[in-house]
Amino acid sequence: MAEPKENVLMEKIVSLCKRRGFIFQSSEIYGGINGFWDYGPLGAELRRNIRDCWWNDMVRSRDDVVGLESSIIMHPKVWEASGHVAGFTDPMVDCKISKQRFRADQIFFSPVIVDGKTVGYVSALESDRTAEELQESAETFKRKKAIQGKLESVQPREFTEAKPEEIPLVPSPATGEPGSLTPPRAFNMMFQTYVGALRDESAIAYLRPETAQGMFADFKAVLDTGRVKIPFGIAQIGKSFRNEITPRNFIFRSREFEQMEMEFFISDEDDWQKWHRYWIDWCRDWLISIGLPASALSEYNHPQEKLAFYSKGTTDLMFRYPFGVQELWGIAARGDYDLSQHAKFSGTALAYFDEATKRRYVPHVIEPAVGVDRILLAILCSAYHEDQMPDEKGKMEPRDMLKLHPRVAPIKVAVLPLLKNKPNLVGKAQEVRDLLRKQMNVFYDDAGAIGRRYRRQDEAGTPFCVTVDFETFEGMKEGPMTGQTDTVTVRHRDDGRQERLSIGGLLPWLLERIR
Ligand code: ATP
Repeated sequence: MAEPKENVLMEKIVSLCKRRGFIFQSSEIYGGINGFWDYGPLGAELRRNIRDCWWNDMVRSRDDVVGLESSIIMHPKVWEASGHVAGFTDPMVDCKISKQRFRADQIFFSPVIVDGKTVGYVSALESDRTAEELQESAETFKRKKAIQGKLESVQPREFTEAKPEEIPLVPSPATGEPGSLTPPRAFNMMFQTYVGALRDESAIAYLRPETAQGMFADFKAVLDTGRVKIPFGIAQIGKSFRNEITPRNFIFRSREFEQMEMEFFISDEDDWQKWHRYWIDWCRDWLISIGLPASALSEYNHPQEKLAFYSKGTTDLMFRYPFGVQELWGIAARGDYDLSQHAKFSGTALAYFDEATKRRYVPHVIEPAVGVDRILLAILCSAYHEDQMPDEKGKMEPRDMLKLHPRVAPIKVAVLPLLKNKPNLVGKAQEVRDLLRKQMNVFYDDAGAIGRRYRRQDEAGTPFCVTVDFETFEGMKEGPMTGQTDTVTVRHRDDGRQERLSIGGLLPWLLERIR
C-alpha cells in the first residue's frame, strides 16, 4: 500500500535504501511481490550485525540463556497446541468493488453528525493522522452535500466495532463509496503447505508464524542436556511467516520476516513481575546500546481486558517511526500456558524437577519477542540525517547521512588512497585494507574526488574513513606527529573531524570503537 503523501521522511529513507543497496522489493524484475523484501549488500551486513549483537548479548555473554535453531516446519500438532490453528486470525474486510483487502482493525470510521443528526459516514485507514483525516472527510462530505448546520467532531471507531446496520453505510477507504465493504471475518494468517508427495489433509503443515514454539517443543530436550537450571532462557533467531492481510509501512509489516525471541523459564513460585520488569529494562537498554535514542522509545501496557486468558501481562516497547508510534518489541508474561498445552497435546510431561526442594512443577515463562526487520527500520529512521558539509573548496553542500552506531554500521571503515594513479598510495592503502579486513567489514574506494568518496560513505553510515596521502610516506609536516611516517588520516562521519593516527595503532583504535 502506498505511503501517505505527507510522509516525506519515509519516502527519503525508502529511496536511500534502494539507491544504496540496503533494501529492494523482492522479485522486482517481475513487478514485485507484496510483503516480501530483499536485503542488498549493505542491508545484509546491517541485518547480520543486529543479529550478532543480539546473539552476543543475549546468549554468549550470559550464563543463563542458551541458543536454539529449530526447524521452520514443525509437526502440525504444535500449532494446534499453541492455539494458532484455531485462533491466529486477523479480522479481514473485502472491498467488493476495488477487490482490495483490509484489516478491520486498521479501518476507522465515524458518523458525520450535523446539528445532532447522523447524515452519513466517513472512513480512513489507520495512520498517525486518522482523527484529522476523518474530520477533514466529514467537512468535505458536508460541503459536497450542501448540508447546513453545525458539524460535530468526529468519533473514530474501529471497523471491528461497526454495528451490522452501520456496515453498508461506511464508505470503503479504497473507493470512498459506501456499500462495498463486507462484514469482518476471521482470516488465519498461517501459510499452509504439504509435506511429502500426498496432497491430502494428513499432509498439511505450516510455515511457522513465530519461532517461540520451537523453544517450548524442545524444552525437555534442552533440559535433558543438563546444562540449564531454572531460571534460564532459550533463545532463537529465525525466519517467521505470516500471511498478513495488509503488509505495509515498508519492512515494518511483511509476510516473511525474522524474529529474535527468548523464552525465560522461571519457577511457578517466583515473582513474575520482577522478571517481567527485568526483561523490559534489558530490551530497552539493548536498543539504546545499538544506537536507538531513548527519547523515541516508550512502553505500552496491554489493558487486562485485551489480554489472552492465560496471559499475566504484556508490555510493548514502542518506537516512534515516521508513520506513528508502533510496537517494536513485545515482552509477555505467559504463565505456564505453552508448556502445559504441549504436555497435553503431546502426552510428554514438560515439568522441571528442582533438586534442592525435591519439587516438580511446570515453569512459567517471560517472552521478549522482537523482529529484526522492525529494529532495522527503527535504526534507519533514527540514523537518517540531512545536514551541510563544506566541499573541498569550502562551499557548503547538502548531505544525506546515516548516523549508524559503529556496532551495527554495515561498513566499519572505508580505506581511501588520496589519488588513484599513484602506485605507492594505492599499494599502501591496499595493505591497510588487508590489515583491517580480517577483523571487520572494510570498503576500499579509489574512484572520484576524496570529498565525493567521503559523502558516499556518509550515506552508507560508515563511521570512519581512513585516507592514505603523501604525508603517509613523507612524514607529518606539523602537529603532534611531526616527522612521523606511516600515518593516515582518520575522518569521523558525524562532524567531519579529522585526526592523524599511525598505521600500527589503527586496528586497536578501530576495534575499541566498533565493539
Ligand atoms: P503486530 O500487533 O504489530 O501484528 P504482534 O503483536 O502480532 O505484532 P508478536 O506476535 O508479538 O507481534 O511478534 C513479536 C514481534 O515480531 C513483534 O513485536 C514484531 O517486532 C515482530 N513482528 C510481528 N509481526 C511482524 C511482521 N508481519 N513483520 C515484521 N515484524 C513482525
